[in-house]
Amino acid sequence: MTRPPAEPDRCAPGPVIDSHCHLLALAEQGLPPAQALARARAAGVERVVTIADGVGEGARSLALAERHPGVFVAIGWEPRAPAPPDDQQLAALAELLQHPRAVAVGEVGLDYHRPPGGRTAPDATQRATLRAMLDLARTAGKPVVVHDRLAHDAVLEELDARPPVGVVMHCFSGGPALVRACAERGFVCSFAGTVTFRNAGELRLAVRAVPAGLLAVETDAPFLAPEPHRGRRNEPALLPATLALVAALRGECPDTVARATTATVEALFGLPPL
Ligand SMILES: [Zn+2]
Repeated sequence: MTRPPAEPDRCAPGPVIDSHCHLLALAEQGLPPAQALARARAAGVERVVTIADGVGEGARSLALAERHPGVFVAIGWEPRAPAPPDDQQLAALAELLQHPRAVAVGEVGLDYHRPPGGRTAPDATQRATLRAMLDLARTAGKPVVVHDRLAHDAVLEELDARPPVGVVMHCFSGGPALVRACAERGFVCSFAGTVTFRNAGELRLAVRAVPAGLLAVETDAPFLAPEPHRGRRNEPALLPATLALVAALRGECPDTVARATTATVEALFGLPPL
């Protein structure tokens, strides 16, 4: 007796978007963009949003997007930069944001992590930078990719004062209460490899609390590789590990989550469907 052909796995995820990675930083760590993107595609990650810090990285990332159809760019200003952009830099950022592949302002936000001897900037400087970036996003009519590290209340306060046309809370790092605060405002919550870490209790509760339509996944590559790759270089091709865990936590098929997050990220950033 011959076996019937195996049922195709209806839960196997379709194409998914990495809503947040750093292709230029990944290249510096030895994985060139063309290779990273080919490996991503082979893993079902057809499109990525790459993050550019400042004018120079913005221009280089847009050049990359022109060469690779699956690449879209967010351009921002490092939250812990020593100063907000000056008028000339703001004008240059505004011009870059007119590029059709520039889909958002980011990452921008507040970072209150204070590593001993590490890079940081006073709260007032960080807030001034964030306000300049929110004004820039509003003028450009673009959504904002938000970096919030140990600064939930302050970040929400700034976003409430200058409501953007769209927000994704990148590398979501709160619990269900922060999910509720974000959902009330229509903010997308994007989960990174941190959700796969063993001590991610609150974060896992948060994954379950995100309403349909506001969920996204990301790698933040080359940082924050998901388990079992933790501590190594991350890349967009590793997104399925995070997607699988997010799906399991929500009791959904990976394919359901892939479709839903893809639709959410397309809508937020105004990406053309595949
Ligand atoms: Zn990032």
